[in-house]
Amino acid sequence: MSKKNIELVLSPPEPHFVGDGFRVHNFIPGGYRLDMERMNPFILLDYGAKFYFPPSDRPLGVGVHPHRGFETVTIAYKGSVAHHDSTGQSGVIGEGDIQWMTAASGILHKEYHEKEFSRIGGEMQMVQLWVNLPAKFKMSQPKYQSITKEQIGKFSLPEDAGTVVVIAGEYGNIAGVATTFSPIHLFNVILNKNGIAPFSFPAAYNSALLVIEGKITVNGAEEVTTDHFALFQNEGEEFDIASEEGATVLIMSGEDIQEPIAAHGPFVMNTRQEILQAFEDYQKGKFGYLKD
Ligand code: MN
Repeated sequence: MSKKNIELVLSPPEPHFVGDGFRVHNFIPGGYRLDMERMNPFILLDYGAKFYFPPSDRPLGVGVHPHRGFETVTIAYKGSVAHHDSTGQSGVIGEGDIQWMTAASGILHKEYHEKEFSRIGGEMQMVQLWVNLPAKFKMSQPKYQSITKEQIGKFSLPEDAGTVVVIAGEYGNIAGVATTFSPIHLFNVILNKNGIAPFSFPAAYNSALLVIEGKITVNGAEEVTTDHFALFQNEGEEFDIASEEGATVLIMSGEDIQEPIAAHGPFVMNTRQEILQAFEDYQKGKFGYLKD
């Protein structure tokens, strides 16, 4: 086993609004060298850094839109997001909760600030990650994993160093609550003061972290601060993160899906023909129906 070191650290790109409710910094695929191929299976990462929304009578958000060919993973750190989709499902993602939506063959949905959050206003902080699907699953049945924070397995680090919240994959003896279509590790790591946590992923996996709160030191050498993203080299397996004051860090690592990517807007397939097919199916109403 050898050390896995940081390849580059990115400050948050200029934010933009998705609809009128989500102010996000797009790290993948817009940011710098983090294109879909480099980060596969993590093909998009929108990070809503902490942002205050004043009270609003009308819930802000993003209206009805389609997805095909991948999964959307929404993690709420602060605030509360509501969603509705064309399969008739709906729900609320509260603080610490995760929504893992497999769009696969196609779904329509809308994402809004939850009603009560809208009425009172408050701070929103969230991540939306798009996880690619292997070709053989891109046209499978859409499904949901609505994961509350209580359902997620947690590994207690020795010496009160903190907690690894295992969303997917495994850490220590704890298995992730989410099921995935390709090997993925996704953790929220909560470090206490002077806490340290070790990690080991296969060298070839695409691996990265995003600092949600606080400041960390990676491998005792490189500092990564709040709202910054660090990409790891595809060399070596092991790294550790430590924090003097305490920190919250999202860690992702996944096996590269070595298949061509054809992407346009909300569709991520393998060929241009499949993208054209997605547009055609969408226009023909094959993604179902959802009221605005
Ligand atoms: Mn969406």
